Amino acid sequence: MAAQSLGYKVAVLDPGERGPAASVADRHIHGDYADPKCLAELAALTRAATTEFENVPASALAFLAQSARVSPAAESVAIAQDRIREKAFLSAHGFSVAPYAVLNTEDDARRVDANLQPGIVKSARLGYDGKGQIRVGSRDEVAGAWTAMGRVPCVIERFVPLAAEVSVVVARTDDGETSTWPVAENRHRGGILDVSIVPARVPAALAVEARDIATAVAAKLDYRGVLCVEMFVTTEGRLVVNEIAPRPHNSGHYTIDACVTSQFEQQARVLAGLPLGDARQHEPAVMVNLLGDVWFAERGAAAREPEWADVLRHPGAKLHLYGKEEPRRGRKMGHVTCLGPTLEAALATARAIKRDLVIPGADEL
Ligand code: AMP
Repeated sequence: MAAQSLGYKVAVLDPGERGPAASVADRHIHGDYADPKCLAELAALTRAATTEFENVPASALAFLAQSARVSPAAESVAIAQDRIREKAFLSAHGFSVAPYAVLNTEDDARRVDANLQPGIVKSARLGYDGKGQIRVGSRDEVAGAWTAMGRVPCVIERFVPLAAEVSVVVARTDDGETSTWPVAENRHRGGILDVSIVPARVPAALAVEARDIATAVAAKLDYRGVLCVEMFVTTEGRLVVNEIAPRPHNSGHYTIDACVTSQFEQQARVLAGLPLGDARQHEPAVMVNLLGDVWFAERGAAAREPEWADVLRHPGAKLHLYGKEEPRRGRKMGHVTCLGPTLEAALATARAIKRDLVIPGADEL
């Protein structure tokens, strides 16, 4: 939609029958991300391509790159879609990550350093929203967790005591011009992003450091496009990079309503070789994710459309529904961005909306 506003036609390759992107795109190529026929059809139509999902095979992007401009580059996506490569890349460039070890074999799991527990075993690939993760309390549990994960390559990470989780979305052009949006403070529920509060309530110096880290990660990757760097704030007030997402990110959805230029417009600008827009935030914002659970708020009942008027009666609330056909528990169906003259006002709106829609955690905001 952002690219269309700038005057471009958009084609999507999507395996779904009627995916959200397909419903607004000028053209929908229906098929698998790796299907050579579909990729050839897309390549014939396209001068610039990007991905909205980091589990699109890097080889598909490499194919498109033979004839079109592709951002992010297949290499950046390949790093971000493999936790082993991602952590090696971050450590090699001096970014702080949680202490970790690679688990490729049962032996690795049995011999893992005792300092890495309590920890979290994470599959190297295809994990997102807390999927593909098992918490382990002691070394004895590591081999079991690795087996439960399907004996695939994993990392084990020491559990870091967290004061907060934050993220910075950064855009970088071919010329290396970069721009970051303000730091988002992220709250998760069940491993899924629940709320982003922007600007994050962290010391100003820490916010500057977080934005510098995101800019440096983008530069080290020679990244082109929009990238999100998720970080932990430890209880000692240090920043640790958790993971990078090579695309516009859920924690940057607030930029649609709260910033001069959204993360999606910025992505379209980079793809088109246009100058970056202003990333300035014009109002404090609290983004509340709408999971499929909201459709099942009445216990045991069938899915029903939530009462959106309860959201829209708040003047600062901006509702975004993605048009996914089937609501399922844990599935991201949309979000609401609550704007206010102060962060406290935006938080108050977010609390009221959470209560009305029976989304847990209103009192924790
Ligand atoms: P991830 O999929 O790696 O982003 O992990 C999902 C969530 O699990 C994070 O947002 C954190 O809340 C939590 N988590 C992941 N890794 C760690 C860690 N090493 N220490 C503490 N919490 C973690």
